[in-house]
This record gives sequence, C-alpha cells and structure tokens, in this order.
Amino acid sequence: MGRVAFPPEEYGGTADNEYLDCEFVEPALRILLIAEHDVEFRLIERLLNSMEGPSHHLHWCQADVTALAAMRGADYELILWGKISDSRISQALLAELKRQQITVPVIAIVDHVPANADRDAIRQGNADIVLRPALSPDTLQKAIAFACARSAPSILHLETLHADPLTGLSNRQQFRAQLARMLADARVPESVGLLLVDVDQFKKVNASYGQGAGDALIQLIAARIRDALLSPRCMARVGGNEFAIVLRNAQGDVENDCRRSIDDILQAMLKPFAVAQHAIRMSFSIGVALNKERTITADALLANADTAMRIAKADNGNHFQFYTRDMTDAQQKLLKLEAEIRRSIRNEEFELYYQPRIDIKTQQIVGAEGLLRWNHPTRGLLSPAQFIAVAEDCGLIVPLGYWVIHQACKDLNRLSELGQPEVQLAVNVSFKQFQDRNFVQTVANILGNQGITEGRLEFELTETTMMSEGQAVDQSLRRLSELGIDISLDDFGTGYSSFAHIQRLPISVLKIDRSFVGSVTSNEDDAVIVRAIINLAHSLNMEVIAEGAETAEQIAFLYQNNCDQVQGYYFSKPVNFRGLTTLLNVDTAQGDAPASRRILN
Ligand code: C2E
Ligand code: MG
Ligand code: MG
Repeated sequence: MGRVAFPPEEYGGTADNEYLDCEFVEPALRILLIAEHDVEFRLIERLLNSMEGPSHHLHWCQADVTALAAMRGADYELILWGKISDSRISQALLAELKRQQITVPVIAIVDHVPANADRDAIRQGNADIVLRPALSPDTLQKAIAFACARSAPSILHLETLHADPLTGLSNRQQFRAQLARMLADARVPESVGLLLVDVDQFKKVNASYGQGAGDALIQLIAARIRDALLSPRCMARVGGNEFAIVLRNAQGDVENDCRRSIDDILQAMLKPFAVAQHAIRMSFSIGVALNKERTITADALLANADTAMRIAKADNGNHFQFYTRDMTDAQQKLLKLEAEIRRSIRNEEFELYYQPRIDIKTQQIVGAEGLLRWNHPTRGLLSPAQFIAVAEDCGLIVPLGYWVIHQACKDLNRLSELGQPEVQLAVNVSFKQFQDRNFVQTVANILGNQGITEGRLEFELTETTMMSEGQAVDQSLRRLSELGIDISLDDFGTGYSSFAHIQRLPISVLKIDRSFVGSVTSNEDDAVIVRAIINLAHSLNMEVIAEGAETAEQIAFLYQNNCDQVQGYYFSKPVNFRGLTTLLNVDTAQGDAPASRRILN
C-alpha cells in the first residue's frame, strides 16, 4: 500500500556520477616535437608510424613561445628536440624546462655532435641524442625506449596516455600513472601531497548558460589554478569539474606546501569568471591527502583526497580538508547508505505514512502529514532520522522529494475516490529541493498530471529552509502558492526566523514545535510562549497547528488557547495509507469517532 513505481528520469532522478571511471583506452605515447619546420614533423611522423611497439600521438610545435605553452600545458611523455637554429631559443626552452622542473625525457635530434645548448640538455640528466644522419625507425625507437626507460621504467607500458582535450591537462588515467610514479619515487612519508579541487555547483553553469559556457569556465579555472601555483606542478583534470594537483617536497614537509598552494588557489578564484557575457563567481572545495605511509597506492591517495573533498564540500564552498583516517569509516558508511537509498528509490522501498491532523473545535480529521518511511529489506522499517540527512547531503532528497510529492498527490486522488475530497495532505520539503532549478515547474507538472486542485496539498518547510536560500526560496514559495499549494512553517520556535520576514511570505499555517507542546502543562514559560505564538499567528492570519500532542491535558490547554489543529500520538501515530483510511472511515462513518471523542473529555 502507498507505494508506486517511481519514474526517476522524469523527476531528475538520474543523478550522474561525477567521477569518471577509467576505461581502457588504446595505449599511446604522447610526444611533443619542437622544431622549426613541418618538414621535420612529417619526417618524424613517418618514422614513428613505421616503428613497431606502442602507438604515438605526435604534436608538433614551433620553436617559439608556443613551445613554452605546450611544454607547460599538456603532460607529454617525451619531448623531441628538432632543428632549432637560434640557440637563444633553445636555451630559453631548456631554462624553462629546468625552471618548471619538467622531468619529461628529451631527445635531441642533431646534425652533429651537440653544441653547448644540447650538451646542457644532456647534463639535465634526462636527455638523449640521435644524430640526424643515423635517423631511422630503428634508431629512433631505441632512443625513445632508452630515454623513457631512464626517466620511468614503465612508461612505454602505460595503459593510457591521453590528455584532456579541453584543458590540455592530463586526464585521470594519465594522472594515476604519474601519481603512481611519484609515489614510487617518494623517499620519505609526507613528501607527496595530492590536492583535489572540485568546482561547486558546476552543473548549474551548464544548465543556466549551456555546455559551451561550462567548457569555457573549466578552461579558465584550469588556467587560474596553473597560474596560481608558484612553480608548475603535476596537474590534471580528473573529473568533469575536478582538478588534481600533486605537490612534492623531498624533505617530507609537503603539508605546508599544500596549505600555501590552497591559499593561492582559493585567492585566485575569488575574482568572477567572464563566461557567456556574465561575470560569475564560483566556489571550490578542496580535499588533500598526503602519503603518510610510504606504501600508499595512487588509487588509495586519490580516494583519501576525494573523501576529504566531500567533507569540505559539506561546508558550503571555499573550504578545504586534510584527510584523516577516521574520515574513511564515517564516509564509507555514508557512501553505503547513499548507494542503498539510490537503489531503494528504484526498488520502491519507500512508503509514505500519514499522521492525522485534527480540527480541535470540530474534532474531525481535516488533514494529515505525510512522513517518509523506508521498508529496508534487512533493517526493517526505518524512520527519516536514519536517512533524510544523508539523502540531503548527497542530493538524493531531490528525486526522493519528488517521489513524496507524487505519492501524496496520488493518495489525495485515492482519498477523493473514497469520498474524502476535503482532506488535505501535507508533505515535508527540504531546503535542498529548492536548489533544484526545476523545482517549481516539476511540482506544477506533478499537480497537473494528477489533477490536484487548489488547497489540497500543503508543503511544510522549517524556519531554516525559509531563511536559508533567501530570495530564491521566497520567489519559489510565491510561485508554489500561486499553484494552489498551502505553505506551513514547521517546527516553529526552534529556529531563528524573523516575524518581519515570515509576514512577507505566503505562509498560511504555523506548526508549533513539539518541544513546546510537550511541556505546556508542566512549564509555565513554555505555556506563555505557546499562547504568544498562537496569538501572534492569528494576528498574521495564520492557522496554528500544535505538533506532538500526547496528553489530554495538553489538548485541553491548546483548546482553551484557541489553537486550530492538533497532531500527535494522543490521537494517532503516523500510519500507512490504509491506516489513514481506517481512521477516516471511522471518523466519517460514525461521525463521532472514538479517537475524536478522546480529544476533549
Ligand atoms: P516533522 O515534520 O516535524 O514531523 C513530525 C515528527 O514528529 C514525525 O517524526 C512524527 O512521527 C513525530 N511525532 C508526531 N507526533 C508525535 C508525538 O506525539 N510524540 C512524539 N514523540 N513524536 C511525534 P518522523 O516521522 O520520525 O519524522 C521526523 C522528521 O523527518 C520530520 O519532522 C521531518 O522533518 C522529516 N521528514 C519526514 N518525512 C519527510 C519527507 O518526506 N521529506 C523531508 N524532507 N523530510 C521528512
Ligand atoms: Mg513536518
Ligand atoms: Mg515538525
């Protein structure tokens, strides 16, 4: 009872995974050729093509400033140094390589025994030379194998070596390989620091300004991060809106370097980004993980930084977190729960229970509050306290919330069919649901599809929700109210809403929190507060519902003080839909229901 198949796509339920899983891509070696003429490019290309072994991606770049950018931008596995007649340029390029600590092997192709510049290159310790007259597929292949083997033993066997086409940075796969090499090279603990920089709410940019704008923004962000770092580091784009940076400190004090770099990055991101003729501000969440143990793998370090990043994200932007071990246990539990919620939406394990609301004067059930329950296959019936916060954190509250609204609408129709067209149903709406820019429109669609008329559905929002998103919530509330949805203020008295603010919003019902109701007969202060709330609400033309009424004395107090409705265990605990119809049938069939009679003795 009370369950329907949930169409997640229709309501934005297909939450896409921000993490791109690595798939096997054709092995290829990324080579940058710096040379003056395209003749040389064609020659090398021909030689490479006739070589056996791993395939190659050859990028040619002229020996000028573009070469500097190319060396800096994409992570090449090998640099081929072609003919550069101006020795000042080759010296500048070499200086740049050194300055940037680029350790990519360089092979110089020279006409004769190297001149000074090339000798310098060899002195860097990461270069080889091939004499032009001896150039053949065979000699080139040997030189490449030799140079790569010297710089990283496994480089020719790396599975995937593609770069991210949008930014020219390494992609996740390439990055993993680089990180693995650095970890293998690390001599002391805490000498490698991994920063994961995640762009908050990036999807909003794509959604508001289009994919092209999103791409442009990613490029701008990549450039700013790169410029913010004092010296170039190993940097990659490891997810749609996520960058990874590795910092190294041979002495093992990389934590300080990480902190400095984070400061620099966040500082550089403060200025708005010019995208699609708009100046937009973005916030970032950064997770950091250090190689505390020398044996840690690249994947484990990435997972740790990701855990820390997710925790930083919970802090609402421009925060960073260093990974600590106890994060993992907590995170793993959360991730498991998140996966379970995702699964259970599809498996229809959720059910909407209802707790009746009674008109205190007429003693009739006039409505009910929908309260979510999870029929967990192994843990039994779970209450919202066990999963709502997680669903909010991971955004699953959005599809789940649509399921709730959809279900309440269906139940309203079932109530009408059962001869109860006057009963109103309320559902709880969390602040996260207002962050979905299609919220109002989707609600309108559900109402339209289900043919729900004005005044039958109510949304309960807490004070925190009403105050949290400012203007955006205000506007949505007005539009929801225009759709014929009543708005109530839940748990009133526990938050910090200002009456001035509430007054401007289309709120028609105020629900006094059960912490006050529970003590009206035992605590004079609470009695005073409840009386004041009722009077104030009435003066603002709002109805008042007391939540959590458990005793006849509380009900009597509320009756004497003109409270409009009560809801609580005294009358009924939340029940499933069938239970609600039973309560209603008793109520309507006998007119003077036993439950109602209990309200006022
Ligand atoms: P709430 O909206 O304030 O709901 C009232 C809670 O008080 C319910 O707990 C209800 O069972 C409980 N309650 C009602 N009368 C009494 C009483 O006389 N005594 C006592 N001790 N408790 C009483 P529940 O069902 O566990 O829900 C807890 C909270 O979870 C709700 O508080 C609401 O904030 C949230 N929640 C429930 N369903 C949904 C949902 O569909 N969406 C969202 N976003 N939140 C939901
Ligand atoms: Mg509520
Ligand atoms: Mg409440």
